[in-house]
Amino acid sequence: AIPLVAAISTSHSAKHGLLIRNRTAFENARKLSVIIFDKTGTLTKGEFGVTRFKSVDEKLSDDELIALAASIESHSEHPIASGILKKAESLDLTIPNSSDFENITGKGVQAKVDGQSTIIAGPGYLSEQGIEEPEGSFGSDHDEAETVIYVIREKSVLGYIALADEIRPESADAVKTLQDDGIKVIMATGDNEEVAKAVSDKLQLDGYHAGVSPEDKSSIIKELQDKGEFVAMTGDGVNDAPALAQADIGIAVGSGTDVAAETADIVLVNSNPEDIASLILFGEATHKKMV
Ligand code: ADP
Ligand code: MG
Repeated sequence: AIPLVAAISTSHSAKHGLLIRNRTAFENARKLSVIIFDKTGTLTKGEFGVTRFKSVDEKLSDDELIALAASIESHSEHPIASGILKKAESLDLTIPNSSDFENITGKGVQAKVDGQSTIIAGPGYLSEQGIEEPEGSFGSDHDEAETVIYVIREKSVLGYIALADEIRPESADAVKTLQDDGIKVIMATGDNEEVAKAVSDKLQLDGYHAGVSPEDKSSIIKELQDKGEFVAMTGDGVNDAPALAQADIGIAVGSGTDVAAETADIVLVNSNPEDIASLILFGEATHKKMV
């Protein structure tokens, strides 16, 4: 039989756009000592706008760089992709055809355009592949930390595109609520160090990890658990499934993929961090009523 209080909690939950798949994990909210948030779309809005772009290839104009990038990104669901497509649309550019699209897990995307294999990825991918970063791609003249991505062909950079995303207005309160409850708030993101630091400073997080791959997210959780921490993790993508499984409380957020939702203990329709904070406090309260 389902305990009455738990049954009431579950129906209360349904109204808040949340599905509790593993009630034990939910009731364990009281043990929570660390929560790891992903950045894009959870602590930030996940709505990227292009701020700067530049071709460093003499055969390619700046606008052609955007058109080329838009061609590849037209196959991607990532918030970076919509930012680039919006830019191409506002410039009224003709987008070339592309084929053989593939995700480079947690790092970028790739496709064939005009028969040439073309990659779009962040700075981590450049250093990993030993590709030289073009000068001026990171600007110091911008307040807002930017996400910079590179268009790459045959191991050389054709150009770069900088985008900005905004911190959600609700994030600061949510972080504070959790911290006041004795929970450490840490961010893990595949995005670059500068962006991660800016978000972490603004939200006064207890720590952050930048440039991390989906596997890194799992090992970060494992290390914390080995030190005796009880860890919750939020995630949205297919990539996040292993980390959600590793966490003591895995929370799939947003329009999250089926894979993420199937691995998670809790599924939240909104990726609003305030909902996550109240869910955790609610889990603690539910336990108190049950004992
Ligand atoms: P987060 O951990 O913040 O959710 P992701 O894992 O979604 O970030 O992406 C990590 C990084 O991979 C991005 O910051 C970007 O550098 C690169 N990337 C992922 N998807 C794309 C894409 N569609 N276009 C360009 N770069 C991408
Ligand atoms: Mg993501």
